[in-house]
Amino acid sequence: MMTVNFDLIIAGCNTRCRHCYVNGGPGGMMPLASVLGTIEKLDALAELLPYETSFTLDNEPMDHPDICVIIRAAAAAKHIGYFHHGMTSGIALMARKDRDDVMRAYLDQGFREFGVTVHGNAAHHDMIVRRKDARRTAVEAAEYIKTCGAEIGVSLMFNRFFHEDADGIDALLERLGPGWIYFAVPNYTPHGNMMNFEPFRGSLDSLLGLRSHYALWGQKEEKLLEDVCTPGMLIKRLEEGLDVGEMFERPQEEMYLTVRPDGSLFYGNTGVETERLGNMRTLDVKAAARRILELPGNRDWGAFYDAGTLPGPEEMIRALGRVPADLAYSDMASTVYRAFAEAGIPTVIRGWK
Ligand code: SF4
Repeated sequence: MMTVNFDLIIAGCNTRCRHCYVNGGPGGMMPLASVLGTIEKLDALAELLPYETSFTLDNEPMDHPDICVIIRAAAAAKHIGYFHHGMTSGIALMARKDRDDVMRAYLDQGFREFGVTVHGNAAHHDMIVRRKDARRTAVEAAEYIKTCGAEIGVSLMFNRFFHEDADGIDALLERLGPGWIYFAVPNYTPHGNMMNFEPFRGSLDSLLGLRSHYALWGQKEEKLLEDVCTPGMLIKRLEEGLDVGEMFERPQEEMYLTVRPDGSLFYGNTGVETERLGNMRTLDVKAAARRILELPGNRDWGAFYDAGTLPGPEEMIRALGRVPADLAYSDMASTVYRAFAEAGIPTVIRGWK
């Protein structure tokens, strides 16, 4: 059965992560009345869909001044579930004078799990999220959240610095004692930010070089290698006969939709919205439900590519060899990518080693 998630963007966030594919960063705030009206309307829409539906508050809900009221409204929806992913940079929470009330609002509604993302040691973490003291604040927030009686988890976001920072990561995990550890290798996504992240991407060799840490990080090598998320992994899989076109055309049973802070409702994940369905203030709920029922699942990023235009495996392997790997190209790459995209020029950037 299809499952549907609405990503409800109510507040920007406090970092500008280089790999962000959900248009994070400091951004617009949805007024409280609009948030409450949107939740009510999503509830009415969910009632008309024969799917399991949920919504997520993004990018950093704790940035919203009225988050306590919003959390209660989210939990009270009758036909749509509130999916609390709980990931936080901790910056908004630690800056709030009412942080005890915020944590109480979450805990009172049964939301007990929170997670922080770690990108390596402080210097590398702050460089990747582009915010000074971001790692120190994330750690302080994790410790504070634990004192409130909630469980804390850690998402390790693999990058090229992990082999340098692995011992520091181990020490941090021992200090925090997380209830869960997730190891993420950022996906390739059709979002301009990813060009900016490519030079920071860790290689297959450096991932394999971290074997001695897998046990403490709660990871298994076979599982880590299942996801094709470094150029080395993808080249290896293409050489073994991976058919990317077939993978992209597989039917999908999860659908992502997005509500932006101005109330616009889109089909597509945040950052890759492909069809505007209306504005939540004026939405014809029955018409929106009819259109959603016509649309296929789009959870996997393959849904956003036209498989018929994919190059053959040899050309893909050659292109992977040209992915920029020099950190000096990072900011320039994203600028060039955006300028080309705005001008409608295909973004095949040649000659970068
Ligand atoms: S990855 Fe998350 S925290 Fe980072 S910029 Fe994007 S939305 Fe914000």
